[in-house]
Amino acid sequence: MILILKTTASQPEVDAIMARIEEAGCQVHPIVGQDRTVIGVIGDGTSIDRFQIGRMPGVEKVVPITKPYKSASREFKPEDTQFDVGGVMIGGKDLVVMAGPCSVEGRSHMVEIAHACKEAGATILRGGAFKPRTSPYAFQGLGEEGLRYLAEAREATGMPIVTEVMEPDLVPLVADYADILQIGARNMQNYPLLNAAGKSMKPVLLKRGMTATMNEWLLAAEYILQHKNHQVMMCERGIRTFVTETRNTFDINAIPILKQLCHLPVIADPSHGTGKSEYVAAVSKASVAAGADGLILEVHQEPDQAWSDGRQSLKPEAFGKLVSEMRAIAQAVGRDIPEPERQAEIRDIVMSGS
Ligand code: PEP
Ligand code: MN
Repeated sequence: MILILKTTASQPEVDAIMARIEEAGCQVHPIVGQDRTVIGVIGDGTSIDRFQIGRMPGVEKVVPITKPYKSASREFKPEDTQFDVGGVMIGGKDLVVMAGPCSVEGRSHMVEIAHACKEAGATILRGGAFKPRTSPYAFQGLGEEGLRYLAEAREATGMPIVTEVMEPDLVPLVADYADILQIGARNMQNYPLLNAAGKSMKPVLLKRGMTATMNEWLLAAEYILQHKNHQVMMCERGIRTFVTETRNTFDINAIPILKQLCHLPVIADPSHGTGKSEYVAAVSKASVAAGADGLILEVHQEPDQAWSDGRQSLKPEAFGKLVSEMRAIAQAVGRDIPEPERQAEIRDIVMSGS
């Protein structure tokens, strides 16, 4: 439930309300607004009498949350969640563009592609060091060595990095290097992993499971949020359907649905969503028009030589052209993808906290 407090509620009244909730074994999630405070009650609230708490001094209204995903719901938090990752604002007016290879393949390869992505307009660098591969005989990623190359590429370009973590025990290691932890489609319902990522307090990019409903996906996000880690992004990456022309079917509907149901930033992954580079630009532009807060795209110097997902990877030139086209669409829908020079200025402003 949510308690909407009176504009006149005093601090001792607020403290008494919070103590009452905690005594009942629930967590208190206060959202302090300009005029009034709203308190989210998380947990099994059955021992709290709605009418009794509604009569406490300072409480204006008690609103039950009807959705099973309490913290993620718009009922709980009507305004969009925004956060800063290494100077890049996510969930605000500007869209975030994450780009890089599917897998980290080596030091010079990683640094080179990082520079190319940045010049083309990316602000966050992607690259997998621990790879979830369908076949155990396929390249499994460079592991910690790959994380080191990612960190070097961040050093060289200033771009924060997003990389996948597949095991709860590896969360501390990956969190040591990464700015954003990616939880892959295959692990969307790996609850120990979700809990570990939640406890790390690192921003999380939560990919949609291949057959996940909105409810299942939002409840997976809830596992992270319950640890008071509110920096969660929902990433649509395509689902399994009967269509065989593409690797997955990118669910464009998911974007407006999520924007309606939850307050978390929504990121589109048209690379995995289509699996074919020739469809990536169209679906990326559609995602911007549909209201996505950002994109994650696979970019490789020589897609034919890529160690994984070359078929869906864009060359840096094609990626650069796509970013310009997406910028025009973003502006048409009241958003923006700032030019690379402007990105640097924004970063300085965000980092200086002004
Ligand atoms: C990836 O980002 O390279 C990846 C493996 O993604 P997904 O979990 O969406 O398949
Ligand atoms: Mn990939």
